[in-house]
Amino acid sequence: MKNVPYRLYLTEEQMPKQWYNLRADMKEQPDPMLNPATLKPICKEELYPIFCRELAHQELDAETRYVDIPEEIRQMYRVYRPSPLIRAYNLEKELGTPAKIYYKFEGNNTSGSHKLNSAIAQAYYAKKEGMKGLTTETGAGQWGTALSEACAYFNLPLTVFMVKASYEQKPYRKAVMQTFGAEVIASPSNQTQVGRAILANDPNTTGSLGCAISEAIERAVSSDGYRYVLGSVLNQVLLHQSIIGLESKTAMELLDEYPDIIIGCAGGGSNLGGLIAPFMQDKLLGKANPYFIAVEPASCPSMTRGRYAYDYCDTGKVTPMARMYTLGSGFIPSANHAGGLRYHGMSPIVSKLYHDGYLDEARAVEQTKVFEAATLFSRVETILPAPESSHAIRVAIDEALKCKETGEQKTILFGLTGTGYFDMTAYAAYHEHRMTDYIPTDEDLQRGFDALPNVPGAQE
Ligand SMILES: *Cc1c(COP(=O)(O)O)cnc(C)c1O
Repeated sequence: MKNVPYRLYLTEEQMPKQWYNLRADMKEQPDPMLNPATLKPICKEELYPIFCRELAHQELDAETRYVDIPEEIRQMYRVYRPSPLIRAYNLEKELGTPAKIYYKFEGNNTSGSHKLNSAIAQAYYAKKEGMKGLTTETGAGQWGTALSEACAYFNLPLTVFMVKASYEQKPYRKAVMQTFGAEVIASPSNQTQVGRAILANDPNTTGSLGCAISEAIERAVSSDGYRYVLGSVLNQVLLHQSIIGLESKTAMELLDEYPDIIIGCAGGGSNLGGLIAPFMQDKLLGKANPYFIAVEPASCPSMTRGRYAYDYCDTGKVTPMARMYTLGSGFIPSANHAGGLRYHGMSPIVSKLYHDGYLDEARAVEQTKVFEAATLFSRVETILPAPESSHAIRVAIDEALKCKETGEQKTILFGLTGTGYFDMTAYAAYHEHRMTDYIPTDEDLQRGFDALPNVPGAQE
């Protein structure tokens, strides 16, 4: 057994030079995205007005197994990568578990999350193709921040539609994005047709990711030389995020380790998909059989209680339809939900792997339990985790405690996707015992399912 350091960083030579496209090894592909007007699979020409060309190609490419990471992107990755693989010795000791706990920490950059990995790639291709600017949406604010950083680096104007609830609750997030030069608009806004329609229907709405996506797309397609970019869910984003898993796998190999259990939090599925990618390849090729767990909030339970069905990716129904686990594009999680991961759907790749049993388990956890885990973790590991990431911490702790009961020395790997410095209102609510748990009723969820589009032969 090798002597395992607290933090392992790969060297320049050990860093991945290619992303890994999981679809190339999947026996069955996710169902294709559909054009909502014709119900026919989307072709690349239909994606060109929304995404820049290279990203449209990546979105539809299920064959190319490894994709070279352009040198300009690797240069920017070097500013904050490799991210460390950390052995949680202190947490293991605190829990008294025989399990070995490792986590991959993606919070070491200003955006405070893994989202920068894809933001850089998307901004790079847009710049290379001569775009004049980008639009996007942001919920909690990490994606907007990451993309602002990337656009500042490549000198591209950026407009961010920020969900109104967070725009008001997190003024410093807005200031960070403005520091990097982005224009930030609260969504729904009166600057787009879809925003005006949503406001006319419900003037007091605090917005949702689905609304903000619709506004960002409308702005992009109606502005010359602009394209829209999205921070999760899409196949291209999972491709870029495979860097997390590739680095983790190399680091574990250097330690003569292989995880028995791999845990990721799941909002739109991008960090989870990226973390598990090379390990899932082993499973698909019959080389290893790690146990995968996706963790989601009990208040937005798309995998544990959603339908595997075609749905829109946004509230305004302007996006192509994707087959995924979904709560319905109109679903808005309860306002008391503080922990992020509030998107109604799930990456089609992650959904397909779960549907077919390769992704072993989805687990929903309540936010007070999540903040309890976050607080314990911060005190022993000295990192203040994002609420989103803390969903994975919760389940890693639960699995380590199971090992304590059984005496098994399992190796656990989880993704620590980011830091929580902008979430102190939620932490304060937890410490002051004001945080409550909300679990939607079956009737609440049924309203979302009733609004699912009808695509013959593809609903379950
Ligand atoms: C956005 C975000 C997530 C969830 O997004 P995924 O696409 O599911 O990975 C998780 N953790 C942090 C810190 C985030 O910013």
